[in-house]
Amino acid sequence: MLNKWEGIILKSMPYGEANKIVTLYTREAGKMTAMARGAKKPASRLAAVTQTFTYGFYLLRSGRGMGTLEQGEPIDSMRHIREDLEATAYASYIVELIDRLTEDRGASPNVFGLLHDALHAINEQYDPEAISLFVEWKMLPVAGVHPVLHQCANCGSTEGEFAFSFQEIGFLCHRCFQIDPYLIRITPTQLRLIRTFYTVPIEQVGSLKLKKATKQFMKKIVRTVYDEQVGVRLKSRSFLDQLERTPELLPQKEKPRDEGE
Ligand SMILES: [Zn+2]
Repeated sequence: MLNKWEGIILKSMPYGEANKIVTLYTREAGKMTAMARGAKKPASRLAAVTQTFTYGFYLLRSGRGMGTLEQGEPIDSMRHIREDLEATAYASYIVELIDRLTEDRGASPNVFGLLHDALHAINEQYDPEAISLFVEWKMLPVAGVHPVLHQCANCGSTEGEFAFSFQEIGFLCHRCFQIDPYLIRITPTQLRLIRTFYTVPIEQVGSLKLKKATKQFMKKIVRTVYDEQVGVRLKSRSFLDQLERTPELLPQKEKPRDEGE
């Protein structure tokens, strides 16, 4: 059976002398894996369209076993992501996270939309760190974790002071602080920001100017939730961490000035 899917390449692995095995996430049918014959050869018409992050239309023949990628027609090669080390690092983290948290052939228009919008935003040079943070928060429900962020996770109150509880996976109000000795106190600004990341569309997050410390705080919370609840270890994360510890590795760029939280 031959189908034309709208998809994004999550992963592209060399296979044998000339082939590649590609994993793509499609809008219509979710994640799939296919053999791209000859795609390793630079002259192949499949060479460019099978590169990681490429967004396009893909003609796949499926049958028993792994499908075959017959043709690809690029819509966007995500050139900035490919050429900028920092953008590549964060985009790699996003595609790996989505690859690890999804099953083959489980169509989810939400996941496709998130992947598409996130890569597009990074390619348009929005802050890749904020975008990847957004994806981490948004993928929590896909990973089976549903944080309680609209009210106190214990008593349901929406008023008072709040803290984040890893035990309850969500906010606790000051009346319920005693049920978790390890909760993390947060400011009203941090509370609003966590809600923002969990609920607003990506364009709004992309245009926020966030301080480094704010992003570090948000990241510490969401990654602790992943470590404790989901338990995925991502290869691209150690490279990102290394990059964040040694920013001098990155070419100097004009950065937008931090303008508060
Ligand atoms: Zn409470």
